[in-house]
Amino acid sequence: MIISGKDIAAQLRSDMQQQVDAMAELYGRTPNLVVIQVGDDPASSIYVRNKMRAAEFCHIRSQHILLPADITEQELCGQIDRLNNDDDVDGILVQLPLPAHINEEHVIRAIRAEKDVDGFHPTNAAHLWLHQPLVKAHVATIYNPVPDYGCTIACTPKGILSLLASTGVELDGKRAVMVGRSDIVGKPMAKLLMDRQCTVTVAHSHTRDLPAVCREADILIVAVGKPKLITCDCIKPGAIVIDVGISRLPDGSLSGDVDYEACKDIASFITPVPGGVGPMTVTMLMQNTIDCFRRRRVKS
Ligand code: NAD
Repeated sequence: MIISGKDIAAQLRSDMQQQVDAMAELYGRTPNLVVIQVGDDPASSIYVRNKMRAAEFCHIRSQHILLPADITEQELCGQIDRLNNDDDVDGILVQLPLPAHINEEHVIRAIRAEKDVDGFHPTNAAHLWLHQPLVKAHVATIYNPVPDYGCTIACTPKGILSLLASTGVELDGKRAVMVGRSDIVGKPMAKLLMDRQCTVTVAHSHTRDLPAVCREADILIVAVGKPKLITCDCIKPGAIVIDVGISRLPDGSLSGDVDYEACKDIASFITPVPGGVGPMTVTMLMQNTIDCFRRRRVKS
């Protein structure tokens, strides 16, 4: 069965519209997201445009700040600091990658953790790893896929938990294999799955016999960036397969990391590319913006 991230994202965004409208009534203002782009790389421009459109749909206020590619790290961090101190700004996102002369880690650290809607700030990442939420008391749904960690969770793994919730399959006790160990997908995903009582294996570029490791998975999540790396001999019959990878092929089409046509009849559930994980990532960015707004209101 196909898991349509596109359809689930549309459902969630309509729900967010209502959440935001209710906030406008309650607080007299709506969440405000600022997206900073450095330089005009065409791929980054498309990602930023998608984020701005999603915000508009959800009735979230948003602002796009386009800075010159030769801006210094100090100047960029100065802009971020100004937004950190602006009480009307709830979420700050710096579109990655940044030009080579700017240290991304410094820039991510410059964003105040409570306004870090990507969940990449070390405070948010550490909180995820050290916090053990009351998972038993939490019923995962597409609308509420993670228990309250009290911090911002990276958008892609959070969106994947929503996709998994849409299957209705109980995660407790399942074998999960996460292929890829990036800070933005693989690592946080592994922790979230552990918290859902899965037995998790993280595979990566040095893993030996990747197909054998993948075949152990009841839940297989792949975030590598190599088109069709995962072939039918990697899938256990009935597994849930989530394809995070997205690569542009020489003919201009998009491909995931999973050979979709070869695997779709072996898996019980599978995400397509495009239309799977991608729309969920942007949608979770909107939810994170709403959540940052809410946490800041509760504090103040
Ligand atoms: P990355 O690009 O930082 O790292 C790739 C990972 O793949 C590394 O951990 C590496 O160890 C592993 N790897 C490389 N070759 C491998 C191999 N042969 N076998 C097993 N593992 C291997 O990772 P990322 O930033 O998570 O991105 C991965 C892919 O996911 C990219 O295609 C990216 O565009 C995509 N992505 C999509 C979304 C979305 O919303 N759809 C979000 C984030 C990333």
